[in-house]
Amino acid sequence: MNAFHGRVTAALADATLKIAIDRTTNTARAKRAAAIAAWPEFAQARVLGRDIKDHVIANMEYYLNQFETNAKKTGAKIHWARTGQEACEIVVGICKAANAKTVTRSKSMLGEEIGLPHALEAAGIERVETDLAEHIIQLAHEKPSHIIWPALHKTREQVGDLFRANHTDPGALETVEQMVNSARRNLREKFMAADVGISGANFLIADTGAICTVTNEGNAELTTTPPRVHIVTAGIEKLVPSMVEAMTMLRLLVRSATGAELTQYTTFHAGPKRTGDVDGPEEFHIVLVDAGRTTMLAEGLAEMLRCLRCGACMNHCVVYRQIGGHAYGATYPGPMGSVITPSLDGLEKSQDLPRACTLNGQCQEVCPVAIPLPKLIRGWRTKAWVQGYEPVYTAWALRIWEFLALRPALYQIASNMALRVMPVFAKGGWIAKMPLAGGWTRYRDMPRPQAATFLAQYKKRQAAK
Ligand code: SF4
Repeated sequence: MNAFHGRVTAALADATLKIAIDRTTNTARAKRAAAIAAWPEFAQARVLGRDIKDHVIANMEYYLNQFETNAKKTGAKIHWARTGQEACEIVVGICKAANAKTVTRSKSMLGEEIGLPHALEAAGIERVETDLAEHIIQLAHEKPSHIIWPALHKTREQVGDLFRANHTDPGALETVEQMVNSARRNLREKFMAADVGISGANFLIADTGAICTVTNEGNAELTTTPPRVHIVTAGIEKLVPSMVEAMTMLRLLVRSATGAELTQYTTFHAGPKRTGDVDGPEEFHIVLVDAGRTTMLAEGLAEMLRCLRCGACMNHCVVYRQIGGHAYGATYPGPMGSVITPSLDGLEKSQDLPRACTLNGQCQEVCPVAIPLPKLIRGWRTKAWVQGYEPVYTAWALRIWEFLALRPALYQIASNMALRVMPVFAKGGWIAKMPLAGGWTRYRDMPRPQAATFLAQYKKRQAAK
C-alpha cells in the first residue's frame, strides 16, 4: 500500500470525518444550487467568465505590464517571483526590513502552495492566521483540507475542544456564536499589534493597479489596514482587465463558493496610505508569483489557469466527499487539485491523484468558468500510462481488456462467462466479496449483474422490432 492509499484507507475508516465533510459540503451544494437557480443569466455569465479568463491568459504579458504600471502609480512596490521559494524570500525580506516581529495573515491558498507559513516561522517571525478556519488549523498544527473551508474536516465539537485548550478565557463554547466570540477576543489584540499584514488577492485589476480581496469575516481588512506594511502575494493568473470584468468574476466566484450574492466584505486595495487618509499601511508591496503557472501554459493546461478557487468542484466530487482533503496529500485537493498538483509537484510524485476520479463530469458542470476537468485529468492519466507509472495490475488488466475489445467475438464470450460466474458470489442481489474485486468490495457491495449483456439485450430488442 503506498502513502496515498494509506491516507485514503484511514480517511474511509474515520466516521467523524465523514460527518464533518457531509455537514459542510451538503450545505454548500444546496446553497449554490439555490443561488444558481435564482440567477437566470448564470449560463451566459459562465461563458463570459470563461472568455474573460481565456482572453487574459492569451494576453498575459500585456496585462501584467499594464497592472505593474498602474500599481506603481498608486505607490505600490511590485516584486516578481519565478518560484515559490523566491516569493517566500521576498516576503521574509520585506518583513525583516520592516523589523517585523509579528505578522497577521488573511487566508491565501497561494501562501499555502509556496510554503509561506513555514518560511515565516523559519525566519523567527510570529505568524497569526486571522481567517477563523485558518486560526483553527493553526491551533491544531494541521494543513487546510478545503480551499474555501480549510477546517472542513473538523466538527464543531472538535473545534470547541481546541479553543478550550488554547484560548485565554474561552468562556462557554456550546454554540458556534460563542466559539466565534472566543476567537474574536483572542485575535483582536494581535490584529492591532502586528507589524506586517499579508493577504492574497482574488483579482488583480490591470487598468487601475488595484487588488481585490473577498472575505466573510472582515479579517482581510483588519489584516491589511492597521499594520505599517501590507504585502500582497498573488498568482499571475489573478489578472482581470478592469473593474467591469472583476464584477462578473465576483458574481460567479461568490455564488459558486458560498451560494451568497456577494461576500460580506469585498475590498479593493490600491497603494499605501495617502496624505490625509485616516488609516492604511505606509508601505504596500505586491509580489506577483509565477511558481509553475507559465509551465502549466506550456504543458497544455491553460484552461486550468481560469480557476477562481471557488471549491465547487470538490463540494460536488464523489471522491472528495468520501475521503476529504488531507487524503490527497497536496495543497489543492479534489478535482482541481488532481490537475494542478502533478504540474506543481511532478507526475511521478502525484500520479495517484488523477486516478482518484470516476470521471463522472460533475466538477465540470458546476465549475463557474467551465474548466474541462475530466479532460485534463484524462490527459494526466495518458501521460502516466505513456511514462510507465500505471501499477502493474492496472497495466495488465487494461492490456487484457484491449486484447478482448479488439476481438468482439472473444469479448462476448468473456462477458457471457463473467455473467455466469459473478452470480455465484451474490447474496440477495449484491456481491460483497469476489476474487480479483477486493479493491471494490472492501468498501461497498457490487450489484449482481443483469440477466443478459447489453449486446444480447440490444440484439433481442432489434429482433423484436
Ligand atoms: S476548478 Fe472550477 S469549480 Fe474547481 S475551484 Fe476552480 S473555478 Fe472552482
